[in-house]
Amino acid sequence: MQSIASKNKKEGQWSSNSVYHTFRHELGHSLQNEHELNDANWLKKRSEIENIKNSLEKELTNLSDSDKMKLKKAKLSKYGFESVDEFISESVAEYANNPIKARTTAKSVVEILL
Ligand SMILES: [Zn+2]
Repeated sequence: MQSIASKNKKEGQWSSNSVYHTFRHELGHSLQNEHELNDANWLKKRSEIENIKNSLEKELTNLSDSDKMKLKKAKLSKYGFESVDEFISESVAEYANNPIKARTTAKSVVEILL
C-alpha cells in the first residue's frame, strides 16, 4: 500500500503519499456534505474555494500540457483540479496528513472550511 501511495504522490495524482490518502480524501467529501447540510455560510465558502481554484487555473493558460501537469502537481495534485469537490477533498487529505507541512493551497482551503 505504501508503494502505491508513494507512486501516486510522485506522479502527482495524489496530494499526499500517505497510505490513508484515499480514506482522508473521501472524508473530505463527507465534510463537504456536512457543510452543505448544516453550514449557513457554505455557498460563500465554496465560492471562495472555487476562486482559489480558478485563479490557479488562470496560471495554466498558455502552458504546455506537460507544464500544466507540473503546476497542478506543485500546487495540489492533478486529480484535485478535476472539479471543486476534488479540489477540496485533495486539500483535506493533504492537510490531514500533516497540517504544518501542508502546502499553501491545502492550508488555504482548509482554513476556509474551518
Ligand atoms: Zn474525490
